[in-house]
Parts: sequence; structure tokens; C-alpha cells
Amino acid sequence: MSGAFWSPGLGQLEPYTPGEQPDSGTCIKLNTNENPYPPSPRALALLTSGDFANALRRYPDPESCQLRTAIAHRYGLKPAQVFVGNGSDEVLALSFYSFFRRPEPLLFADITYSFYPVYCQLFGITNRAAPLKEDFTIEVRDFAGRAGGVIIPNPNAPTGCYLSLENIEALLQLQPNRVVIIDEAYIDFGGESAISLINRYPNLLVIHTLSKSYALAGLRLGFAMGQEPLIQGLLRAKNSFNPYPIDAIAQQVATAAIGDKAWHADNCGKVIATRKRSERALQALGFTVIPSRANFILAKPPAPGAEALYLALRKRDILVRYFDQPRIRDYLRISIGTDVEMDQLIGNCKEILASQS
Ligand code: PMP
Repeated sequence: MSGAFWSPGLGQLEPYTPGEQPDSGTCIKLNTNENPYPPSPRALALLTSGDFANALRRYPDPESCQLRTAIAHRYGLKPAQVFVGNGSDEVLALSFYSFFRRPEPLLFADITYSFYPVYCQLFGITNRAAPLKEDFTIEVRDFAGRAGGVIIPNPNAPTGCYLSLENIEALLQLQPNRVVIIDEAYIDFGGESAISLINRYPNLLVIHTLSKSYALAGLRLGFAMGQEPLIQGLLRAKNSFNPYPIDAIAQQVATAAIGDKAWHADNCGKVIATRKRSERALQALGFTVIPSRANFILAKPPAPGAEALYLALRKRDILVRYFDQPRIRDYLRISIGTDVEMDQLIGNCKEILASQS
């Protein structure tokens, strides 16, 4: 493609490639860690009965006050300790811009959310990847030394491995002068959040999303929590880039969803139960399963191997994620669907493995 009109550097960017989003509603979609259940009925009811005439005519609240207050209330913080963005991807981008453009390298694990290196390229941030241990867990000591900041997903993506709060605290203490971001996109599926550390660590930023445990990936709503100076930094960047990132409808729907604690707890419970059942079923088929605390499982299938199984499942309209990258090339990442969807996945894996052995 010709980039004659592009600014210098754009041609060298290697953009993030999200998992496939097929048009057909008929496939079993276990490739982008969406929630298989509909969102809170309170959020859905707003969409059918809400009066948005004035809300749509006007610009939305640039500060998203009502939503930030609901999030603060839900997590025991002050509204001034909450920042909201158009999906946590946008919150991450603004965080990289605001905190990590430094002479020292940003530290992250060698297997991690693949958007992090892309933001580094976009903003010219140098980085160093610390290798995960053989079992894919994090070696906290590797995050010591000269650094422009640290970012880790907890649980990690795409491994599902969980880092304890003591380890997170050790990490924060290793880098007291740099921002440490804990990307908790998947924390609600069985981990303990680092939100409880916010009031003790001025360098901690915790990022959440409504895309996974709230079943609202289509709404595009993510949020960061931290002490006020960090949130002020993010607001400054946002207001210099896009002052109205959260549309009026999303602000109201997200506020309703955040308030529905009972729905959220029930949903997470269902996904966790299905994950545990699916882990056992995959092991029974001969998969090596990495213990997961997320709404997905990273698992190594027996022969004919990950790529062949991914392609065979795809032919049968079942989408899982295959990563053609070092260390996890032999694995598939399988998002947790409904029990029925997981039974179909397991049944099809069984047939494919039997036919190819
Ligand atoms: N962080 C991690 C670790 C993720 O896996 C994802 C989803 N791909 C995101 C952030 C972004 O989620 P969203 O933009 O939908 O909030």
C-alpha cells in the first residue's frame, strides 16, 4: 500500500490485529473472550425504555460524573480516583502516553497482551520483555532496575495465570518512582483485585473493563483507578485528544450495569463453574491445561497439534484463538462460552482428535 501522504513512521507501525469478528451469528465464537450471556437486564431495559432525545441532541458530560460516581461507589473509591475511557484499550493508550514516554524502557512480560508493544511503537516508547518462567508464571524480581514503568495483566493474557496481591505489592515496591499498571480485564473471574492497594501506592493504576465480566464488549467502556494525580494526568491527556470519548447512551447504560451487583456476581459464578468443568473435560481429552483465573483457557492439544485443530474447528464453525508466536504456538486460547457451547467444542475436539490419530 502506498503511504505517500502518511506522516513519517506510520508505514513502520505494525497495528494490533484483533481476533476475527465474523458476520454470521451461527458460529460458536470462543476467540475474543467475550461473555456468552446477555448483559444485566437493568442495562438492557434502559436501551428500550430510556428517553435519550435530549441526551443525544447535546454533547455528553465530558467528565462522565454520574458513571465515575457509580464506579467509585462500587469499588470504595472517590470519583476523583476514577477515569473512564472508550474501552480499556483507549484507557491503556492514554496511560502509555501519559506515564511511559520516558528514556528508560517500559517492562512487561514476554507473553502478554499483544497491544502493549503496539502502543510502544505508536508513542516511541522503548521496552524490555521479561521472560515468564517455564510454567508461564511471572518472576517478580525481573521487574527490578532501571525502568520507565511496568505493565502486567492480572490474570495475564493469554495465559490466564494469576499473580497474588503480595507479588503485586512486591512489584510496586521495586518501582516506587514509576507507574505500575495492573490491567485487571479478567480479575472478576477468580482473582483478588489490587484496588485495595490504591490508597497506599501513589504509583499504582488499576485498569478494568466492562467488556468481559459485565458482558458489554460492544458498549466500549473501560476505566482506570488510582490516586488523584494519576487520574488528573489521564484527564489532561484525554482533554487534549478527545474530550467526549464516552457517548451519552454508554454513560447511562454503563452506570446501570455497574449498579447491578447481583447480576455481576451470578454471571462470574456461572463462567467460573463452566471454566472448571471445561478444564477437566479438555484434560480428559489429553490437553495440557494452564491453570486459569480468567474467562478463557490456554491449553495445548495433543496431536495433530494446535494449528491443525484450530483450522479443523474453524471448518466446523467453531472459532478459538491460535497465536503464531514463540512459546505459545502449540497452544490454543479458548474463551469460556455457555455450557452448551463448551459441550459442542469438547465433542468436536474429541471427533477431530479421534479422526486424525
Ligand atoms: N486488556 C487485556 C488484557 C485484554 O485482553 C483486553 C481485551 N482484548 C483489553 C485490555 C481491552 O479490552 P476493552 O478495550 O474491550 O476494554
